[in-house]
Amino acid sequence: MSEPLLIQTKDLSVTFSIGNGVFKKQQLKAVDGISIDIPKGSFFGVVGESGSGKTTLGRALLNAVPISDGHATYDDGEVTYDLADLDGAALKDYRKRAQLIFQDPYAALSPRMTVRDIIAEPLEVMGLTANREETDARVREIAAKCRLNLEHLRRFPHAFSGGQRQRISIARALVSGPQFIVADESVAALDVSIQADILNLLKSIQQEMGLTFLFISHDLSVVAHTCDHVAVMYLGRIVESAPTRQLFKNARHPYTKALFSAIPSLDPDDRGSAQKLVGEIPSPTNQPTGCKFHTRCPYVTELCKQQEPPLVTCEEGHAVSCHRWEELQEGITA
Ligand code: SF4
Repeated sequence: MSEPLLIQTKDLSVTFSIGNGVFKKQQLKAVDGISIDIPKGSFFGVVGESGSGKTTLGRALLNAVPISDGHATYDDGEVTYDLADLDGAALKDYRKRAQLIFQDPYAALSPRMTVRDIIAEPLEVMGLTANREETDARVREIAAKCRLNLEHLRRFPHAFSGGQRQRISIARALVSGPQFIVADESVAALDVSIQADILNLLKSIQQEMGLTFLFISHDLSVVAHTCDHVAVMYLGRIVESAPTRQLFKNARHPYTKALFSAIPSLDPDDRGSAQKLVGEIPSPTNQPTGCKFHTRCPYVTELCKQQEPPLVTCEEGHAVSCHRWEELQEGITA
């Protein structure tokens, strides 16, 4: 039996108005008609370059930016919230249930607070514990899960390495007892040797505590061993979505294949054979017509320039938005 959905979105869009009195106001559609289902207890990956809208999607699901159109719901079996319409006590409660792990472990922690105070702060701000003893007990419990010891709690952030600081950030995100965690490029600022350690920690915490993760990354290799399912975003849209294993075995969209080509290969015969990603992602304020990837796609046709391809199911659980996915699958590239 499949798991119930914790997060469900339907045609979710986030549009910002940018400009000021001097420059004409422009509409920036950062997230454009996203429909995703995130099962409870899953590790759901969102991958794309900078400017793809993945961070804005994560923030919309945390209610940190307003949803302009469409729907997003959160249902943990205890409460159900419409995320486009949260305020007052419901919003306060949702802040406890949904948390963010930041990208930069150096900027995320106040240098003037001890690790104990950094981790305890959400409990105190949200009024989740009755007294200092209860707060300290909760801080110690979560610190231990994140492999921090009592000695660490007395120190200040500058005494720690990047990996240790990220464990402090993770402990702070977990201390309120959330069900849903948005991890936004949470290992991008770390050395490769430390990334695996933090990914293993996130995965073990997720399994032990039954949490649901939205894991945002620009790097497909990072999601490979962590995520159950991956959605690939480009200019605010999902262009491909599949169970991780299926995506890695049989990616269909030219953009996904180009992202794969950015992963260094250990096989000398592989080098240089994959399609490379050329050019920059267009500005979200000046989006191309038709398929949004057409300005960079080596397989572009006139149809691609005129009509946006729908997101269609190509096999169970696997969807792709490309007019030519079937031809390309068969190796017809003219
Ligand atoms: Fe490329 Fe056309 Fe497919 Fe877009 S629809 S990814 S331009 S082949």
